[in-house]
Amino acid sequence: MAAEQPYRLAGVMGWPVAHSRSPVIHNHWITHHALNGAYVLLPVQPGQLSTALRSLPILGFSGCNLTIPHKVEALKSVDRIDPLAQRIGAVNTVVVAPDGSLTGLNTDGFGYIQSLYEAHPSWKANAGPITVVGAGGAARAIIVSLIENGARDIRITNRSFDKAYGMAQELGPEVQAVAWGERHGALAGINLLVNTTNQGMHGEHALDLLLDQLPVGALVSDIIYVPLETPLLAAARLRGNPTVNGLGMLLHQARPAFAAWFGVMPDVTPALYTKVRATL
Ligand code: NAP
Repeated sequence: MAAEQPYRLAGVMGWPVAHSRSPVIHNHWITHHALNGAYVLLPVQPGQLSTALRSLPILGFSGCNLTIPHKVEALKSVDRIDPLAQRIGAVNTVVVAPDGSLTGLNTDGFGYIQSLYEAHPSWKANAGPITVVGAGGAARAIIVSLIENGARDIRITNRSFDKAYGMAQELGPEVQAVAWGERHGALAGINLLVNTTNQGMHGEHALDLLLDQLPVGALVSDIIYVPLETPLLAAARLRGNPTVNGLGMLLHQARPAFAAWFGVMPDVTPALYTKVRATL
């Protein structure tokens, strides 16, 4: 019975944070697994992160997620950083140990890879070249996880070339930076295209990218989930490419965090998709 279980709390720290869908996801799983606990919004201002994180054990929290603007700052405010989070250079999940110490994880790349497998189970990271558009925090998590999963030929292109170049230098020989002016040609012969910019998001312009040279068998993914079908995904679908939207990444990145806090690895089910889609 739920009443005999310890009461467990988790939440998401961000600023702003009111728009976060994470409470819907985690509270769905808490109910589904008949657990005793809650997942709450934690509006934490920039500059207050360290104090807020150190309060987690005092307030009885099992941990929290981190969103804008705290993911990089958190590296300085936890006691241990998981090697993958270290390589990504950002923390999206904090776990409180029984002694009150804090471990930082990053599950964004896991979420992305799982979303591809869920939509296309035969997809393989090493099946051909990959082009990543954008060089922000999400791109970094995705590229590190693609390499971990066997990708050997990743092209990264970004409006600000220095960021793409720096990321390629840092992440290893698998990653090559392509000038923004040459981005259209960077689609030739690839097996996967991923948009990690905000272009195509509700209220933003569509991503300025010509698909002429994209092989028709290439998987096209966009990590944006508002709208579910971005102009990029619509254009790819119309020319016959398989597509994956960003909702799967959002749902799957939550699974390892929930497992760390609540002790159960939850599933992403059609019922969860329906519930979260209703909030978009
Ligand atoms: P970020 O670190 O701020 O990076 C933003 C990226 O977008 C940069 O590469 C930036 O290029 C590019 N960009 C911005 N305006 C542009 C324009 N007008 N033309 C071309 N490129 C432009 O953000 P992030 O955290 O990586 O997030 C990026 C997107 O991913 C957001 O839409 C976010 O909602 C989404 N996201 C989804 C999930 C999920 O679970 N599905 C998770 C994380 C993020 P510059 O370097 O030139 O500025």
